[in-house]
Amino acid sequence: MAHEGRDGCGGGSAFDVDCDEAVRQLYHFLDGELTEERRREIATHLDDCGPCADAAGFEAELRVVISSRCKDRVPDSLIQRVAAAIAAEEDRQRSRS
Ligand SMILES: [Zn+2]
Repeated sequence: MAHEGRDGCGGGSAFDVDCDEAVRQLYHFLDGELTEERRREIATHLDDCGPCADAAGFEAELRVVISSRCKDRVPDSLIQRVAAAIAAEEDRQRSRS
C-alpha cells in the first residue's frame, strides 16, 4: 500500500498548496481553525489529490472513532493504521528535504 502517483501531486503550479502543506494544515482544516480562503485552498487540493484526500478522510474518520470510543480500547487495527500513516508521512518529509 505504498503511496503511488506522486506525479501531478505537489509538484505542479496547478495547486495553491502542495501536499506537505495540505497535510500540515489538515488538523487545522478539520478543526475549522483556518480562514475561509485557506480552507478553500486545502479543499481544492484535496479534490485534486487522491493521497491527500485519503489522508483527510482517514483523519476525519479517526476523530469520529476517538470521540465516540474514547472510553474504550482503541482497536489494534486502528493503531496500526495510525502508525503506518505517521511513518509514511515521516518518510515523505525525509525524502523531501
Ligand atoms: Zn496532495
